[in-house]
Amino acid sequence: MSDPHTETSREADAPAEASRHFIRQIIDADQASGKWGGRVHTRFPPEPNGFLHIGHAKSICLNFGLAKEFGGACNLRFDDTNPVKEEQRYVDSIIEDIRWLGFRWEGEVRFASDYFDFMYECAERLVQDGKAYVCDQTPEEMRKARGTLTEPGTPSPGRNRSPDENLDLLRRMRAGEFPDGSRTLRAKIDMASPNIVMRDPVMYRILHATHHRTGDAWPIYPMYDFAHCLEDSMERITHSICTLEFENNRPLYDWFLDNLGVHHPQQIEFARLILNYTVMSKRKFLELVRDGHVMGWDDPRMPTISGLRRRGYTPESIRAFSEEVGVSKYNSTIDVVRLENAIRDDLNKRAPRRMAVLNPVKVVIENYPEGEVEYLDAVNNPEDASCGVRGVPFAREIYIERDDFMEDPPKKFFRLAPGAEVRLRAAYWITCTGVVKNDAGEIVELRATYDPQTRGGDNPPPDAEGKVRKVKGTLHWVSAQHAVDAEVRMFDRLFTAENPDKRPKDAPEDPPEDWDYKQNLNPESLVTLRGCKLEPMLAERGADEPEWSDGIRRFQFERLGYFCIDADSKPGAPVFNRTVTLKDSWSRAGGK
Ligand code: ATP
Ligand code: MG
Repeated sequence: MSDPHTETSREADAPAEASRHFIRQIIDADQASGKWGGRVHTRFPPEPNGFLHIGHAKSICLNFGLAKEFGGACNLRFDDTNPVKEEQRYVDSIIEDIRWLGFRWEGEVRFASDYFDFMYECAERLVQDGKAYVCDQTPEEMRKARGTLTEPGTPSPGRNRSPDENLDLLRRMRAGEFPDGSRTLRAKIDMASPNIVMRDPVMYRILHATHHRTGDAWPIYPMYDFAHCLEDSMERITHSICTLEFENNRPLYDWFLDNLGVHHPQQIEFARLILNYTVMSKRKFLELVRDGHVMGWDDPRMPTISGLRRRGYTPESIRAFSEEVGVSKYNSTIDVVRLENAIRDDLNKRAPRRMAVLNPVKVVIENYPEGEVEYLDAVNNPEDASCGVRGVPFAREIYIERDDFMEDPPKKFFRLAPGAEVRLRAAYWITCTGVVKNDAGEIVELRATYDPQTRGGDNPPPDAEGKVRKVKGTLHWVSAQHAVDAEVRMFDRLFTAENPDKRPKDAPEDPPEDWDYKQNLNPESLVTLRGCKLEPMLAERGADEPEWSDGIRRFQFERLGYFCIDADSKPGAPVFNRTVTLKDSWSRAGGK
């Protein structure tokens, strides 16, 4: 348990009432004291510089969820203050993801760039009040003058400029007179502050860049720390929820808002979501996409929201996971099994059961009449009787999984073997009577007989002496003549290491720079199976199939796991993705 990457989450063992996590408790207290006149107004403020990931999903669930719970509102606001990295397609994907998760924002989608005029006015006011100044230092000079944790910084020569001179320079910056990086506007706070964030932070930089919304209107752009608190203020946010890294910046936000005398939301920090077996940074996602380690941002192995969606996760499961992991003030790593269990729980309740044979071998049932077909009732969902039954065609030739047969089985093998009897799910009991091989000695076909008295998989009547016949194994199967061919993509975790960023002790010594998280990629994270055999109901939407909120069809393949239809499917050529196995095989493989 000393490894920081093992689960240390406190919420895990906390009693149920702890679900009133500390942010709920803060809002409870505010409601009781009437602090905001009963208002709860939150926001989700992504920067449109990449696709959202499961960490963002947690923040979305928290912000939109609290607003809903307390009868308040939540804004969606793009923090688009860095024109170089931001793109419209990221804006579009983020909007799609939030809608998919099931949340609706208050009013229009908002953009930080909508407030550029207001921010600039605030900057002029601070200049006029002698609280901000134009600085001519290069980034390098500024870094040197900033001091260290133990030494105070040294003031910039620009610090002594008069308000009038600063105002003139700021206006000329705004007019585009100066080249990129030649000047900045800085807040005049305290170069000796023990909190380095307070040592005259930059408020505006010069950047002649085209912005995805404001075009070339601005040659200067506000820095995140100055802009973000003003955006919250403009929107009269009450509870400004952010991750722990921003705790040090809170005094700076307080300083800006108080010196400007504008609406001052309460900032509340919580621990960001960290999952094992996963990286969680847009920079790394970009790299994985660019270098072709994955098929794209929405690759079903990516922890992006679009990847999870394509993998078959439901919005409900992600919301349940976010609630289940809770909200904490302490950083800890969450076991990805908890995410996988969230989708298992949801799909177990809702996914119709179907039969699919992924690695087929044909079985010819010799005593079954040639040309005959019967439809046998198969239960759609044992967890939900209202889902009823469906008719599954049965005929003389069927497919079963290759590894459900062993010619020379060990003692505890309860599946098919020469002379052995098994139950076919919802059909008959069959006994293997022969094995047909090709010249290479590979099994190409099995021969069997069935017992007509076992229709529907029922136990046959006791024999003359009253002895009951028993079988231990139940196999899934698909009628050969009715089977639909499909491609099935067997996804697994993208990384084999619990902490993909951690260099293993046994990694080769030679230059450590040669090692990075990509060495922990799982070479078997995608295995594509072709020629899989599906029961015919999987090819077309069945009348009694549930409607999923996003229209994506999801199933349990009996005995195999949960699967969903991929967007790459074509008419007559379905493609399925494995969402998750039926049980957690990683923990079992780990010897738990
Ligand atoms: P990354 O560092 O992964 O690229 P980011 O923090 O730069 O993400 P933003 O667009 O700034 O991404 O994030 C939008 C919101 O999502 C912020 O309020 C941020 O605090 C929150 N957020 C980002 N990552 C996580 C996480 N892992 N867990 C919880 N909230 C997160
Ligand atoms: Mg950020």
